[in-house]
Amino acid sequence: MSLERIKRAISDKTLRCPLCAKPILRFEKYVDLVASVWDGAGDSGVETGGCKVTLICGNEGCSWKERSEYWQNYLKE
Ligand SMILES: [Zn+2]
Repeated sequence: MSLERIKRAISDKTLRCPLCAKPILRFEKYVDLVASVWDGAGDSGVETGGCKVTLICGNEGCSWKERSEYWQNYLKE
């Protein structure tokens, strides 16, 4: 679900680079934290559905990239 949101945010250009303020163009290494961390752990209670992703600005002259669980922070509506 979050993966779809990230894809849509990038195609809609609503994710903005904090350095150059242009739309973030790419992402990679999406990981669903629920699946990767809790799967098979036997823990009850199911968690919040976080994810971690590397965001890459990708605009010319800007080398910003960040691996974060908080990609929503860069959303500009
Ligand atoms: Zn940038």
